[in-house]
Amino acid sequence: MASFSEYVFPETIEEAYALNQKRSSVIVAGNMWLRMCGLRKKTAIDLSRLGLDGITEEGDAFTLGAMATLRDLETHPALAREYGGAFGEALSPIVGTQFRRTATVGGSVYSRFGFSDVSALLLALDARVLLHARGETPLRDYQREPWDRDVVLGVRIPKGRRAAARSVRLCSTDLPLLVCAASLGPDGLRLALGARPGRAMIVAEGLPADADEAAFAAIARDVPLGGNRRASEDYRRRVAPVLMARAAAAVRGEERA
Ligand SMILES: Cc1cc2nc3c(=O)[nH]c(=O)nc-3n(C[C@H](O)[C@H](O)[C@H](O)COP(=O)(O)OP(=O)(O)OC[C@H]3O[C@@H](n4cnc5c(N)ncnc54)[C@H](O)[C@@H]3O)c2cc1C
Repeated sequence: MASFSEYVFPETIEEAYALNQKRSSVIVAGNMWLRMCGLRKKTAIDLSRLGLDGITEEGDAFTLGAMATLRDLETHPALAREYGGAFGEALSPIVGTQFRRTATVGGSVYSRFGFSDVSALLLALDARVLLHARGETPLRDYQREPWDRDVVLGVRIPKGRRAAARSVRLCSTDLPLLVCAASLGPDGLRLALGARPGRAMIVAEGLPADADEAAFAAIARDVPLGGNRRASEDYRRRVAPVLMARAAAAVRGEERA
């Protein structure tokens, strides 16, 4: 269980950022991960009063606020319309509804978990992370960086792509053994893998829309996959092309199972 000496609700982003520069401070979003960490910090910085919980649609993009919950994404009608239900598909297997009503976009993106359904889908959609100090940065770069003390304000995702996500789990609600998110736009098919195990990454871009199983098998031979106590590397390498083919079929509108 995490414990803090003081619990602060900053009134501005600048205040939150300044507080977060101290090693004795930590940002609290939904507290769903932090509370399990046994962390002891002087100051907890709660972002919940900063108006970061919106999902807005402007022109050619959506902005997902850092404090929007996974359930907000999963049930948002405009996101469902634009991305063909991909947020529902990708996020509904995560733990349970009550959990997803509290876990946030910011906590998920900042943490860069090696089992993330969230990051895999956002990568497939070419998301950009909105950071207070640094500004906008591509998620694909952010995924490779060490944890820092900037504040995630939200995520921007361009419109114009259909998306789908497929995962394999030992049982529903468990952590994924492997995740594949796909998106299809004017520049072709993009695939991202999560739970490799390791931070999610883009594994293919600009593939033809009708890429076939041989193409997916070739990609799966070379992508960085590993083993852990949940699944071996060999298992993941066999499952990867199957998930890629299923996600690709879904974005082509061939199946939505
Ligand atoms: C039991 C369990 C099972 C899970 N299963 C899955 C799964 O199957 N698939 C999946 O994708 N995810 C899974 N997750 C991760 C989950 O979806 C959330 O990403 C995670 O719990 C983060 O929760 P939170 O948003 O409450 O963030 P918190 O726990 O509050 O914070 C997490 C970290 O992010 C930092 N942080 C939070 N917000 C910001 C911000 N705006 N700016 C900078 N730093 C910030 C915090 O300081 C902390 O270090 C699981 C988590 C748990 C606990």
